[in-house]
Amino acid sequence: MKTEEKRTAAQLIKLQSLNLNQKIDHAAGTIEKFCREIPNPVISFSGGRDSTVLLHLIRNVIKKDIPAVFFNTGNEYPEIIKFVRTFDNVTVLYPKTHLKQIIDRYGFPLISKDYSMMIYKLRKGTKSGEIYLSKTFNSGVNNHWFLPEKYRYLINERFSCSDRCCSFLKKQPASKLNSITGEMASESSLRQDIWIMYGCNSFNKKKSKSKPLSIWTGKDIREYIRLFDVRICPIYEDYRIERTGCMFCGFGAHLEKLSRFEYLMENHPKAYKWFLSLENSGVTYEQAINRIGVVLPHQNGYQRKRQEETARRRRVSFNHQ
Ligand code: SF4
Repeated sequence: MKTEEKRTAAQLIKLQSLNLNQKIDHAAGTIEKFCREIPNPVISFSGGRDSTVLLHLIRNVIKKDIPAVFFNTGNEYPEIIKFVRTFDNVTVLYPKTHLKQIIDRYGFPLISKDYSMMIYKLRKGTKSGEIYLSKTFNSGVNNHWFLPEKYRYLINERFSCSDRCCSFLKKQPASKLNSITGEMASESSLRQDIWIMYGCNSFNKKKSKSKPLSIWTGKDIREYIRLFDVRICPIYEDYRIERTGCMFCGFGAHLEKLSRFEYLMENHPKAYKWFLSLENSGVTYEQAINRIGVVLPHQNGYQRKRQEETARRRRVSFNHQ
């Protein structure tokens, strides 16, 4: 694999402190370089805030007419699908396997991508799974591959957790594409480590990838939207929508004070009910979500939790005035 020079976390922090104009120049350089090496790149467009900025940057600022692809996983917000359809030159791709089959066969996407992968392997008893229980194993960059004690009860539940949903619904349809994506290293420590290993562009005989917004942060995205008056999906007007992506994904749901599923229940009640009825080993998604400590918006106790959180947010905003 041909990659850019190895980088460090300190270099990333330095690059992240550049101003927006410098980051736009950096992104333009990354894209130019990628397009010189790769004759047929595509923009991976999810309809979310970051990838809308990426599409705008490529087509309106750098002025490259690169085609885009949208992966309709089967659990996209209808608002996002409608928004994506308003853009030219966007091809919609569908997965070969249905979501229901994936959940049934492999398990629910809960806690996080990494942890659900570890839980799945540990349940299967695969030899490689053992490393996730030992802190001494080191991936070479950071020790991500360790399953914390607090999630180990999930190894012995009746239902399974898995990250395979992402492989079938997102990775497989993209497997032969040389894509330009809106991923940022600031989104997670795993993405930061991947940036340290591969940089903004990585070239491979089978599949190359460009991440021109790697050194950007959420603040840059907001600033760019304001500066260029970028049209983003109206779903973001709802204060509960921070990120779009898959409507029913359970990754990170256990950490939220206000449930991401509240918007879904109010605006797409049929989809809400359907997702919660999905099963793995005779356990519904609703039961599995409850098992990880999440109270769903239609359940007893949610309103009280909601009122407490709203009061807390009001207090915080009052104290900052
Ligand atoms: S983001 Fe979540 S729901 Fe969407 S494909 Fe990946 S695991 Fe599945």
